[in-house]
Amino acid sequence: MSQACKILQASAKNIDLCVDLLRDEAVVGVPTETVYGLAGNALNDVSLQKIFEVKGRPMLDPLIVHFSSIEQAEIHAEFNERARALAAQFWPGALTLVLPKKDTISDLVTAALPSVAVRVPEHLIFRSLLERLDFPLAAPSANPFGYVSPTLAEHVVATLGDRILAVIDGGACKHGVESTIVDLRDPDAPKILRPGPLSAEQLGIQDAKMELKQSSNKLAQAAPGMLTQHYSPNTPITLFGHDEQPSNVQKSEAVLYNTKPAGKVAENTFWLSEGGDLTEIAHNLFMLIQKLDVRDYTQLKVERAEHVDIGIAVNDRLSRAAAK
Ligand code: AMP
Ligand code: MG
Repeated sequence: MSQACKILQASAKNIDLCVDLLRDEAVVGVPTETVYGLAGNALNDVSLQKIFEVKGRPMLDPLIVHFSSIEQAEIHAEFNERARALAAQFWPGALTLVLPKKDTISDLVTAALPSVAVRVPEHLIFRSLLERLDFPLAAPSANPFGYVSPTLAEHVVATLGDRILAVIDGGACKHGVESTIVDLRDPDAPKILRPGPLSAEQLGIQDAKMELKQSSNKLAQAAPGMLTQHYSPNTPITLFGHDEQPSNVQKSEAVLYNTKPAGKVAENTFWLSEGGDLTEIAHNLFMLIQKLDVRDYTQLKVERAEHVDIGIAVNDRLSRAAAK
């Protein structure tokens, strides 16, 4: 793959360069606190088309729009009191709200739905871009549609390097999984559409026990675009239970535990966290999967996380990555 894409250090000069590129309708890779995003002008159909083209993303999969402040978000989405309260508490942060859209938002953003997904991100580099621009940024993950999400600038170059000009380097993404999406169109019945770094408990949302059944496509109906199969590396993934052991491991297969196993470990054994910390497991999840995906393993056997807090988001991504 020819790689025209430059990894830019986050200097003032390079931020200016990316601001110019975004004003010129280009799309740029940006670090966020969740995963790397592919950012483009959310109010410009040319930029929006480019996002879909670069990712190979179906137009039916709506985009999240990022703003510098809640005031900016209120210009383009219809907030209710519950949404205002959640935004006041958790923005800037890894919370996306689905709300009725205003007329400024194009059908390209929402897959023609009357609702729009909005977020105010926390990452300083992403924020500095938003603060300089007079438009919000649509920014899905900066990877080809369906592949593992990028958590390093190098991941963006490896998969989209021949299709975009630049990615700003912000190091490894803090959370490592995408934002929690809450449907707040009905303020009395908030629904978690995608588990993420903020749990239902933290958000004070009851009745949000989302059990992702691998074979079920229920979510695809609840949130358009949330396909059962997603986040998939080229190497097939199978899962085994939390605190259990994988069966019948071959030398050609890699095993990924949550926690470093005691004693001497085989060469094909890996772990997501020394001590089993869930935040660290999420942070390292996509990074380790991408690292192993370019080796010659015939299969990745991955331990499910404990099903609490951000572990719910980890299990959601793992189930989709393993789905056939
Ligand atoms: P990504 O850009 O990969 O982080 O994914 C964004 C996801 O947000 C989509 O796949 C949808 O599941 C969800 N989403 C975005 N906009 C809407 C919307 N208007 N209504 C419901 N879900 C949405
Ligand atoms: Mg994505």
